[in-house]
Amino acid sequence: MQENKKIAILGAGESGVGTAYLAVQQGWNVFVSDFGNIKKEYKEELETLNIDWEEGKHDFERILSADLIVKSPGISPKSEIIQRALAKGIKIVSEIEFAGKYNKAKTICITGSNGKTTTTMLTFHILKKAGFKVGLAGNVGKSFAKQVATEDFDWYVLELSSFQLDDMFEFKADISMLLNITPDHLDRYNYEMQNYVDSKFRIIQNQTENDYFIYNADDELIMKEINSKLIKAQKLPFSIKTVQEHGAFADDKQITINIKEQFIMSIHDFALKGKHNTQNTLASGLAARVLDIRNETLRESFSDFVNVEHRLEFVAKVNGIEFINDSKATNVNSAWFALESMDKPTVWIVGGVDKGNDYSELEALVKDKVKAIICLGTDNQKIIDFFSKDVETIVEAKSALEAVAYGYRLAGKDETVLLSPACASFDLFDNYEDRGNQFKSAVRSL
Ligand code: ADP
Repeated sequence: MQENKKIAILGAGESGVGTAYLAVQQGWNVFVSDFGNIKKEYKEELETLNIDWEEGKHDFERILSADLIVKSPGISPKSEIIQRALAKGIKIVSEIEFAGKYNKAKTICITGSNGKTTTTMLTFHILKKAGFKVGLAGNVGKSFAKQVATEDFDWYVLELSSFQLDDMFEFKADISMLLNITPDHLDRYNYEMQNYVDSKFRIIQNQTENDYFIYNADDELIMKEINSKLIKAQKLPFSIKTVQEHGAFADDKQITINIKEQFIMSIHDFALKGKHNTQNTLASGLAARVLDIRNETLRESFSDFVNVEHRLEFVAKVNGIEFINDSKATNVNSAWFALESMDKPTVWIVGGVDKGNDYSELEALVKDKVKAIICLGTDNQKIIDFFSKDVETIVEAKSALEAVAYGYRLAGKDETVLLSPACASFDLFDNYEDRGNQFKSAVRSL
C-alpha cells in the first residue's frame, strides 16, 4: 500500500476514473483534474469514491505537488501542465503503466498503425472460446486499472496506442504484437518518423527470453528496426508473402501456423475478409498457438468472429449495389487495404481532415478499381487535384446523406459503394463512429 503518497490524475474519462479507483484502493491520496468537462457518470463515481476532482481547469499548484502523475493518452506532452511537471522532475506515466504495477495476470499487448482493435477483439474472442479467464482493455472496453482493482483474470488482451506506449517504462508484455508501422500521428512526434517507430517498439521493452514477440515480417520498417536491435523475446514472424518455418504465413488460399502443432485453414472459411485481416488473423493465431489453444477452437473462432462496427462493415445491398462502411479508415494505409479487397467496380467515398496524406500510394488501386469518387469533406481540393487524371467522375458531397444519394446514382448493379475516407472526420462529423452511423442510416433509408 502507498501510505498517503499523492497522485494527480489528468483526464477523467474511462482510463482516468479507473486509475482513480485503483489508486484509492492502493492507499494513494488522489486528485483528478480534467481541463474539459467530465461526464456525469464519471463525476458520480468520483463522488462515491470520495475523491477530490476539478473540471474546466487545472489547479497547477496542487497537481505539481503530486509524487506521481497519471496522464490520459489524449493530453499532448507539449501542454503547459506536462511541461511544468517534467521540469519539476515529477514522474508521468500512463494508466497501463500504473495498473501494470498491481496487475498479477499475464498480458497480450497489441500495437501497430492499423488493425489494433480488430486483432485485439479477435485474440480476446479466441481466448474466451478456449475457456480462459480473460479481460479486454487498453484502447477498447473498460479501464485496465479498474479491472485490475476489481477482477480476477488470468490474462488480459490490451490494445495499446503509441500515445499509451510513450508513457510506459517498466511494464512488460508476456506476448507482444506489432502489426505494422505506417505514417500516422506524426504531428505528435515532431514530424520525425523514427520517433514514431521508437514509440511503437516500446511494446517489446523489458521482455525476456521467456516472452514472445509477434511481428509483421513483410513490414520493411519493422524488419529494419529488428535487424538493428538486440531482442530478447522469442521472435514469431508472420507474413503474407514468404513461407515462415517458425511463424505463420498465408498465400492466396490458406494460412499456415508453424509453431508447435501445425495449423492450416482455408482463407475462404474466415469471417474476416481482405489481406489486412489475413495479417491480423495470423498474428492472433500465433498468440493462440503459444497458449496451446486447440486447433479446433482456433478454426471455430476464425470462422464465427464478428468484428466491431465501421471496419469494412457490410451495410446492405440495395438494387444490387453493395454498400460498405469503412469509416474507421482514417489514414492512407487502411484505405489501401479496403480498396485492395474490392472485387467489383467501386464508387469510393473519400475525404475529411487530411493528416498530410500521400495519395500516390493509392493511385494504382484507384485506376484499377474505382469508377467514380465522391469527396466527403469541407476541403476536397487535394483529392480532386490528385485523382482527376485517373478518375473521370469526381463529385463533392457535404453530408453522408448526399454522399449516399450520389453513390446510389453512380454505382450500377453488382457494383460497390465504399466509404473508406483515408482522413479524419472532424470537419463534418463528431468522430468516425458518427460518420459511419450517418452513412449507415442514409443507406438504410434508400
Ligand atoms: P486500429 O485500432 O489500429 O485503428 P482497426 O482494427 O480499428 O485498427 O482498423 C482501422 C482501419 O484499418 C479499418 O479501416 C480497417 O479495415 C483497417 N485495417 C485493419 N487491419 C489492418 C491491417 N493489418 N493493416 C492495414 N489496415 C488495417
